Amino acid sequence: MIPIAKPYLTKEDAQAAYDTILTGWITQGPRVKEFEEKFAAYTGAKYAVAASNCTTALHLSLIVAGIQTGDEVICPSMSYIATANVIKYVGATPVFAEINDAYNIDLEETERLITNKTKAILIVHQIGMPADIDGFSKLAKKHGLALIEDAACAVGSMYKGKKIGSHSELVCFSFHPRKVISTGDGGMITTNREDYYERLKLLRQHGMSVNDRVRHESKKIIFEDHLEVGYNYRLTDIQASVGIKQLEKLDWLIGERRKIALQYNNAFKDFDFLRLPIEKEGYFSNYQSYSIYLNENCPVSRNDLMEKMLDAGISTRRGIMTSHRETAYHKDYGNLKLPISEDASDRSIILPLYVPMSQEDIQCVIDTFMSLIKL
Ligand SMILES: *Cc1c(COP(=O)(O)O)cnc(C)c1O
Repeated sequence: MIPIAKPYLTKEDAQAAYDTILTGWITQGPRVKEFEEKFAAYTGAKYAVAASNCTTALHLSLIVAGIQTGDEVICPSMSYIATANVIKYVGATPVFAEINDAYNIDLEETERLITNKTKAILIVHQIGMPADIDGFSKLAKKHGLALIEDAACAVGSMYKGKKIGSHSELVCFSFHPRKVISTGDGGMITTNREDYYERLKLLRQHGMSVNDRVRHESKKIIFEDHLEVGYNYRLTDIQASVGIKQLEKLDWLIGERRKIALQYNNAFKDFDFLRLPIEKEGYFSNYQSYSIYLNENCPVSRNDLMEKMLDAGISTRRGIMTSHRETAYHKDYGNLKLPISEDASDRSIILPLYVPMSQEDIQCVIDTFMSLIKL
């Protein structure tokens, strides 16, 4: 059986967790601080704040951006549902925008959706392919809106030569096993704003004025105060120690992923009924996932293809979901039609891509896919 994805975890990652456990400091402490510093250095952002996962990272980002009940936040419907959910967490309303041919939120469509209630735009770098950050930054500035990046899938991806995480004020990453590097669960927010940095650190730990590490290192007694109602969105030191090791391997992992994506591209490029991933000039994807769109004249339907791939021992996934068609959103968005997103979601298939993937397995995916679409 060829799986859809697999985290790349080694003895070195396990050893790091083992060593951390034996220090006796197992939740947020010195390893989290080290992971944050290394992550900020890697992305080129001024600051990084670890969180328990990307969903909580996004929740905190919306809070520090001042998003509240009654506000509207524009985001793509075609994304993992957490993108929309976090907007609901703060009492605001997700306003779903259409996507472009790279599965990313469409700039012009977003501008059309801006109302006097709009407070933020939440863009998603879908399956690792960056959205047009400069375009959205300009749009956000023009209308006085916050810009938040859901970079759950985009660790190590680049836009105009710079790593995702360095461009805007709030960028959120995920270390779920389905992403390019993993800490089990885990998240990170990068920011260039000191005020956001300070408030994010407060909010992720109960609003506590002094963190455990600072208190531990102090030569004098310190009593903490709780400055506002916060959350427990901490990452543990066990996870962070794994994250530090994963980060060291990230650029190599991306290189390996891109080689596999290139093999898929070369194998499938001559079929006019397939649309392969689009990586425009200035965009660099980490290929968190490899998705192919099947045109109407494709000889086999997407679901048949998935079924037959599975019969051949190859696991695939449907294209990225649309949030507005999920049961949780159906009551409020039942009449909403987003034809481009719906079509892209229904007609695309995600192929296996992980490291290490043997040449034999890559070839097996290619040969099986080819034999099915040539019918
Ligand atoms: C995975 C994912 C999330 C959620 O990340 P978690 O770390 O699992 O909370 C959010 N947004 C997108 C686009 C994702 O792919």
